[in-house]
Amino acid sequence: MSIHRFTKRLFSKTAWYAYNTYRKGTDFRAQLSQTDSLFNSSRDNILAYQCKRLKKLLRHAYQTTSYYRELLKTDSPDISQIPLLEKGTIREQLADLCSDSFSQKQRIKNATGGSTGTPLTFYQDRNYWNQRNLSVYYFDRWVGWDFGQSQLIIWGALADLENNGNWKQKLNNFWRNQFWLNGFQLTDSEMYNTYQIIEKLKPETILAYPSSLYQFAKFLSENELKPNNSLRGIISSAEMLHPHYRKLAETVFKTRIYNRYGGREVGLIAMECSEGRMHINCRDIYLEIDSGQPYKQPGEILITQLNNFAMPFIRYRIGDIGLLSDEVCPCGNQLPVLKELLGRSTATFRTKNGELIHGGYFTQQFYDLDGVTQFQLIQETLEQSVLKLVINQQWTEDTGNYLIQKIKDALGSDVSVSVEFVDEITLPMSGKREFTISKVA
Ligand SMILES: [Zn+2]
Repeated sequence: MSIHRFTKRLFSKTAWYAYNTYRKGTDFRAQLSQTDSLFNSSRDNILAYQCKRLKKLLRHAYQTTSYYRELLKTDSPDISQIPLLEKGTIREQLADLCSDSFSQKQRIKNATGGSTGTPLTFYQDRNYWNQRNLSVYYFDRWVGWDFGQSQLIIWGALADLENNGNWKQKLNNFWRNQFWLNGFQLTDSEMYNTYQIIEKLKPETILAYPSSLYQFAKFLSENELKPNNSLRGIISSAEMLHPHYRKLAETVFKTRIYNRYGGREVGLIAMECSEGRMHINCRDIYLEIDSGQPYKQPGEILITQLNNFAMPFIRYRIGDIGLLSDEVCPCGNQLPVLKELLGRSTATFRTKNGELIHGGYFTQQFYDLDGVTQFQLIQETLEQSVLKLVINQQWTEDTGNYLIQKIKDALGSDVSVSVEFVDEITLPMSGKREFTISKVA
């Protein structure tokens, strides 16, 4: 390692510790090591901790929010009997969901674009953020990240990018030893610049939106640009990591991708380990699957956030579908495992006979077809779907017939599929690229 890189890393590491001491208090290092030892302890120990936190949250919610006082009727309810928290309820009863014990000033406003494009506003408190960061620090170290290391961030959320470029953000990037590639402006010249920066700054990890990472990897591969550095790993976050994204990016960057599952509303939910299992963050989250047989039958993921006392999220329907596993992972970590993460429930199609078809079925068959540059399949009703296509010179009518046939194979032969040729498929405000959208509830 060059003297310059070494000094930069040392400076950045010191700055990280100073920042965290300022945010979290002088016992930051103790908090960090307590977090690590809890996450590394036995399953019984983690679940006992989780149970204690859950009871505390339910009591707090009953005692200090008018919404839960009305709903729970007692300060020690049976969680499995509590009605689910829907996004619509948050929109309509935001004030009632906020705790009386936090002043307006103590509430930190946050929002998500949401897959439907309707923003959702909510509040969090300082302790929520502190705990959320401690967990991120723990899980990102599974990937090989550590304080002070150089990191490339390939990100697409407008809310996070708006401030990028102002002096405050530049300063942050400097002391954090991070540099950004804007997922919304993936022009050839931007991507080439980033390639050159990688060669110069040699990041040790990448944190990325998987769709932007995929585009960048595709650009590098098509232009025979081989990143000549030794990455420790890539963290994929904020949207679905499709198998074809993973395959290409792992080949181009010659490293492993770790899927980090979370949401702005509730923080980090689960993280992939070196054995490819998704471990549930039971320190901060109580996760349920809304299904009669959560180990066999996939269902909606319900999240109870254990640290956000400013606005409790209890059995929040986050909008993803998953399945639990009862295995103990060979990696040695004993946090319970989420067997399958099937993605957005809005990307799951329904057939007339009530069957569920995961959006990934279409994605996997369509993405590398000659003639198709981009696609988006929208299920408007049980009878009708629309396929939007951006095509290139290799397009033939046979490709079109093939696509329609595949859709009918899954959704039913009497379903009508209309094809629309478009110049581009625009990204929603959230920046999350969606290949499949179902409007059938
Ligand atoms: Zn594991």
